[in-house]
Amino acid sequence: MQPIITRFPPSPTGFLHIGGARTALFNWLFTRHHGGRFILRIEDTDVVRSTEDAIKAILDAMEWLGLDWDEGPYFQTQRLAIYREYLNRLLERGHAYYCECTPAALEEHRQAALAQGRKPKYDGRCRDRGLGPGPNRVIRFRCPQLGTTVLNDLIKGPILFDNAELDDLVLERSDGIPTYNFAVVIDDITMNITHVIRGDDHVPNTPRQILIYQALDVPLPSFAHVPMILGQDRAKLSKRHGATSVMAYKEMGYLPEALINYLVRLGWSHGDQEIFSREELIQHFSLENVGKSPSVFDPEKFIWLNAHYLRARSAESLVPLLEPFLAAREHPKKPAEYLAKAIRTLQPRTHDLVEMADAMNFYMVQDVSYDPAAAKKFLTPNMIEPFKKLIASLESLELFNEANLESAFHGVVSEMGLKLGKVAQPARVALTGSTVSPGLFEIIDVLGKEAVLRRLRKAVEYMSG
Ligand code: GLU
Repeated sequence: MQPIITRFPPSPTGFLHIGGARTALFNWLFTRHHGGRFILRIEDTDVVRSTEDAIKAILDAMEWLGLDWDEGPYFQTQRLAIYREYLNRLLERGHAYYCECTPAALEEHRQAALAQGRKPKYDGRCRDRGLGPGPNRVIRFRCPQLGTTVLNDLIKGPILFDNAELDDLVLERSDGIPTYNFAVVIDDITMNITHVIRGDDHVPNTPRQILIYQALDVPLPSFAHVPMILGQDRAKLSKRHGATSVMAYKEMGYLPEALINYLVRLGWSHGDQEIFSREELIQHFSLENVGKSPSVFDPEKFIWLNAHYLRARSAESLVPLLEPFLAAREHPKKPAEYLAKAIRTLQPRTHDLVEMADAMNFYMVQDVSYDPAAAKKFLTPNMIEPFKKLIASLESLELFNEANLESAFHGVVSEMGLKLGKVAQPARVALTGSTVSPGLFEIIDVLGKEAVLRRLRKAVEYMSG
């Protein structure tokens, strides 16, 4: 059997967005499932809008998501000679011709068609003029005027196009740069692509591309057009709906495995399973289970998945991921072991690395600052005595572990005839600055004796006015 070869060909005119990443993922999974080859190709023929920064941003995002490629990146701007060769073939066989219509003339013609309520279409004025190369001339495809072109889409089924609706598209602009529809066909032919999996916004381009394959007498690849991703208002996903760039989600503290799992379910399903490991995805992925209707981006489900993956990871593996967020908050570096211990207390309570980094604050600072409302309510003079007794009892502890801490606390509260909660909440405020935190004994265990005693003493000072 012929090996499966797919490609992901982003245009480097901006960052990698959610829709592009999903397309890349579907190609990658399909290829890995079949043990094929996945090619990365940069479609940089729009020389004005393509940038080095965008290329880097796209490659970074692919790497962050773990979507590795077997070949490339290829750059279309380095392949102009190849396109030329195929253009010559089309010209020789009469499937292409030079056209000297000026943009102004084309525009005039377009306006006239619109004014008469006709669909604007190139009128084929230069078709049979037998023009040769010359300044300001483009090369157009001689599109068949009769018949229909059928796209047998693996996801959508057969789609018929009336050739009379298609016009003689430009293959090469007057600056010698090929157009997308032409370059993409030549790349897919010369790279032996077997499956073209892309967004269904490209469906209208596909009959034009099919006709070029046919003019070159080359077999077609299989096409699979994946329905769009919509925002919750069912409009095409855009900035209005929130972040659309993959790397923005990295900055927002999402994990790549959460994004992969989230993206795959935008359009693909496997029964009602929601959580998939990468291995499971490779094992189960198939184009048959890609849906026919658009999917809706659901930020709440995404954050739910992220929280799941945040809990599923080892605390140790989260340390290097969290460190840049801590550094951005200007916390001094702490030993990995300390960070891991602190992270473990926050994994069940946070949804993303930003939230986690914020919640880490009291573990990172020398002295906490009190939430005013919490301090007013809990750090009151009647706590001075219990705190002093607690400090004395904790000072004498040889082993500063959860069990000993708990009995020290219980000793103090029962001696003073109080309830544990009466002292625990003020202690929490003293140690963390707020009333919301992981369990008291967990945080004491992480902070360690020295920091705990210092904070309790500070609280006594504070309460003493
Ligand atoms: N450069 C095109 C895009 O980013 C590629 C489309 C295709 O896969 O053919 O939309």
